[in-house]
Amino acid sequence: MTIFEKIIKREIPSYIVYEDDLVIAFLDISQVTKGHTLVVPKKPYVNVFELDDNTAAHLFKVVVKVSKALKKAFNLEGLNIVNNNGKLAGQAVFHYHIHLIPRYPNDDFLMKGVNHNSEYTKEDFLKLKELIINAQS
Ligand code: AMP
Repeated sequence: MTIFEKIIKREIPSYIVYEDDLVIAFLDISQVTKGHTLVVPKKPYVNVFELDDNTAAHLFKVVVKVSKALKKAFNLEGLNIVNNNGKLAGQAVFHYHIHLIPRYPNDDFLMKGVNHNSEYTKEDFLKLKELIINAQS
């Protein structure tokens, strides 16, 4: 059982900011930035690849609701929505969750990506596009 199931079952303490039958949201213990919150389906899906459509749809409604609450509570000008899937992507708790990370001027939160556009031709993009479209069926 993951630590999030223990939170859902009230076996360990947490700071719950939203709850309904399917979804719970609570403060992330690390508080990467002030108000850092996790939105979690109660059913212990491991990652995005396991989520069913209904849960995903409802979960994202809650993401929007809690994001708006964070914006109002902390007068936010920025918010990152992050979800790590798999150890390689930085997932540490293997119960699906979405991070809501409020942003403040000069906070020390980093998300680094390198632009590799110059390494791709138009044909490369077309091939990638086809692979992804074909994989949807
Ligand atoms: P991830 O790396 O995406 O799997 O994120 C897991 C998150 O869970 C981290 O940001 C942790 O700080 C957070 N976390 C771990 N234990 C707890 C806990 N008991 N209560 C709240 N958040 C937790």
